[in-house]
Amino acid sequence: MELMSARHLNPVPYYAAQGRECELFEQAWRRQLPLLIKGPTGCGKTRFVEHMAARLGRPLITVSCHDDLSAADLVGRHLIGDGNTVWMDGPLARAVREGAICYLDEVVEARKDTTVVLHPLADDRRVLPIERTGEMLTAPSDFMLVISYNPGYQNLLKSLKPSTRQRFVALTFNYPSETVEQGIVQAESGVDAATAARLVRLAQALRRLTDHDLEETASTRLLVMAARLMAAGLPALEACRAAIVDALSDDEDTGVALMEVVSALFGET
Ligand code: ADP
Repeated sequence: MELMSARHLNPVPYYAAQGRECELFEQAWRRQLPLLIKGPTGCGKTRFVEHMAARLGRPLITVSCHDDLSAADLVGRHLIGDGNTVWMDGPLARAVREGAICYLDEVVEARKDTTVVLHPLADDRRVLPIERTGEMLTAPSDFMLVISYNPGYQNLLKSLKPSTRQRFVALTFNYPSETVEQGIVQAESGVDAATAARLVRLAQALRRLTDHDLEETASTRLLVMAARLMAAGLPALEACRAAIVDALSDDEDTGVALMEVVSALFGET
């Protein structure tokens, strides 16, 4: 693989593959199929999309969706200034015009009216109607729509409608295997192999704990943060408390229980 993408000369961000997801992404892009990535937070979804966009030489426009995000936020709006109004493309319209990859992170958070603009873009029509200007943008062949969500967060009120999800090729992510995750922790932080291996063992022990009321468990992101603190010279127990234990829970008893798991692996180091 080239390290620089030909078109934009951006370095390709490091990404350790879990399986054949890079091939799948590339084929979906070539066939003009939109992609849905499912998986827990911090397991590498965003990094994967950044990596693939750079590898394919396409600009990437990322939108972190939240519960106030509307169709107009994605498509654009008229701005009023100095007595005249100017049209401002939103990120989705910009991505369509530029033939970029548009990544909508946590898409189920967005307001329901966003489906009106996503549906015609995600099926064979590949168009973005801009109601306010009367324009109908046709997506060029290198445009790609990628959405992600975390099935763990889902409740009945916030789920992706079948009519939306059936427009996308789906890819399920999970935490990487032990060897892959160890490589990621090492590469992203600079800690030695033994420390990275211990952090991964810690994550696996925490992921097995089901009797605590944790909304989420130790992600690769948290391991990388702990490893970075350790690489900066912080003692292991402190680094793990700050980056992992306190990030996972506000409950004191749960914190004590999680720190016992940390101590069992890192002792007094
Ligand atoms: P998500 O989008 O799933 O919440 P991210 O892609 O932001 O997660 O991943 C969080 C961090 O974990 C990244 O910034 C990176 O340091 C690390 N990471 C996770 N998975 C990978 C991977 N497969 N290759 C490289 N880095 C990874």
